[in-house]
Amino acid sequence: MNLSHSYQTLPDTFYKVVSPSAFKEPFTVIYNHALASELGLQLTKLQIKEWLSGLYLPPFAKPIAQAYAGHQFGHFNMLGDGRAILLGEIKNAQNELFDLQLKGAGPTEYSRRGDGKCALSSALREYIYSECMHALGIDSTRSLAVVGTGDTIYRQELEQGAVLTRIAKSHIRFGTFEYAAHYGTIQDLEALVNYTLQRHFPNMQNKKNKAIALLQSVIEKQMKLIVQWMRVGFIHGVLNTDNMSISGQTIDFGPCAFMNAYDANTVYSQIDTNGRYAFGKQAAMAHWNLVRFAETLLPLIHIEQREAITMATDILESANSIFALEYNAMMHAKIGIAKPTQDNMPFIENLFSWMQKNKADYTNTFLHLMNKKDLQDELYNTTEWKNLVHDWEQILLQNQVSKEEALILMQKNNPNYIPRNNHVDVLINNCVNSGSIDELEKFLQQMQSTYNVEIAAIGLCTFKEDSSFSTHCNT
Ligand code: AMP
Ligand code: MG
Repeated sequence: MNLSHSYQTLPDTFYKVVSPSAFKEPFTVIYNHALASELGLQLTKLQIKEWLSGLYLPPFAKPIAQAYAGHQFGHFNMLGDGRAILLGEIKNAQNELFDLQLKGAGPTEYSRRGDGKCALSSALREYIYSECMHALGIDSTRSLAVVGTGDTIYRQELEQGAVLTRIAKSHIRFGTFEYAAHYGTIQDLEALVNYTLQRHFPNMQNKKNKAIALLQSVIEKQMKLIVQWMRVGFIHGVLNTDNMSISGQTIDFGPCAFMNAYDANTVYSQIDTNGRYAFGKQAAMAHWNLVRFAETLLPLIHIEQREAITMATDILESANSIFALEYNAMMHAKIGIAKPTQDNMPFIENLFSWMQKNKADYTNTFLHLMNKKDLQDELYNTTEWKNLVHDWEQILLQNQVSKEEALILMQKNNPNYIPRNNHVDVLINNCVNSGSIDELEKFLQQMQSTYNVEIAAIGLCTFKEDSSFSTHCNT
C-alpha cells in the first residue's frame, strides 16, 4: 500500500505516534470493492482482515492519532482521536489525496476514559450512511471496510467489536483549528493554515491574507454542504465543531438519521435533548461553528484584534446570503425550476405548510409531485394535494418551463430512495445477528439508482413513521 504522510509535516503537537491494538481473530464483515478500485487498491482477503483491523500494519504505514479540540453542544473540550488511527494517505488515479483511517482500532493518548473501540453496529451504521450520502451525490467521507475484531465490548449492552476503515479528503476538523488556537503557538496555527490551504484550497495559497481566504473558502463549502443535507432530509445529529470537516465532507455518522414526515423541528438523537441540532437548525448551527472557526484565525487575519474581528464579521455575514442563494436554487430545482425567483416562494411555502400539517413524507411528496407511478398513499388523493399540484403546474407555466424540462431537473434532485431509519436498523441487526450482508449489499446497490428515472421505488418508498424512533451515540 503506497501510503504517504503529508500530515506529519505539521509540527508534532498536532499528533501522537500510536500503534493499533492487535485483535487476534479479525474477520471481514464487508468490503467496498468499488471504492477499493477507485483508490487503486488491490488487497487480498488476508490483507483486508489483517491490515484493516490493525493486526498488522501495511507497508509504509506510520500510524498516528490526531489532536483536536471542539465545542460539544456549545462547550469547549480537548478531544483528539480517541478511537481512530490514521495509517497514512493514499492517492487515487486522479492524484487526489485521501486519509486512510482505522476507527475502533484501540486506545490512543486521547482516549480519556474510552476504550478506543467501536461496536460492530456503529461501524455498520457509519458504513451505510456514508455510502448512501455518496450515492445521493453529497460529499461525504467513505467507508472501505468493516472488519470484526472478535472481541466483545460493553456499550448499553455487550456488543461485538469492529474496525471501520474510513477514507476522507482529510480529517482536519474545525476542532483542529480550535486545538491550535487554544494549545499551540501562532506558528503552529500558521502551519495548519498553510497545510490546509495546500491540501484543500490550493488556488487560495497565494492570497495576501491567507486566513481570510481560508475562512471564505470554508464558509462556502459548509453552506453548500448543509443545503445538500436539506435537499434529502439528512439530520447529522451531533454537529459539534469536532464533527465538521474543513474539506466540506459530511463526517462522523453517529446519531444521524433521515427525516420521514416533514417537520423542521425533527430530532432523532437521544442526546440532543434541547433540539440544538434539529433538521431546520443545521444552517444556524453550522454558522455558529463557523464563528468558532473564525475566532481561531483572528491573530492571523490582522495584527490588531479589533480590525481582525471586523474583517471576520464581514465575511461571516456572507455565509447567510450564500446559504439563502444556494437553498433557493436547491428548492427550485426540487420543483423543476432552474432559475429561482421570489415569485415562486409562496408556492414553496404552501407546499411546506401542507407537508407539515399533514405529516407528509418529505422524500415521497416530491416523488408524488413528479407523479411517480406505483406510489400509493391516500394523502395524495385529497383535493388539497390536487390543488397544490395544479398550483405547481401554473408556476411552471409562469416560469416558462415545460413539464418535461421540469421533470428532468426534478429527477436529478429528488431521490427515489433514502436510507429509512427503521430499515437501516433492520439491515444492521440482520448483519450483526446472522453475519449475512446480502440484504445490506442489495440495499446499497439499490441506492446507486436513487436518481434513476425508471425506478418505481416500490417498497423502499413506503414508510411507517415510528414516532418512538430515536438514535443514540453508541460509540
Ligand atoms: P464523536 O462522538 O465521534 O464525535 O467523538 C467525540 C470524542 O470522543 C472524540 O475525541 C472521540 O475520539 C472520543 N471517543 C468516542 N468514543 C470513544 C471510545 N470508545 N474510546 C475513546 N474515545 C472515544
Ligand atoms: Mg467525532
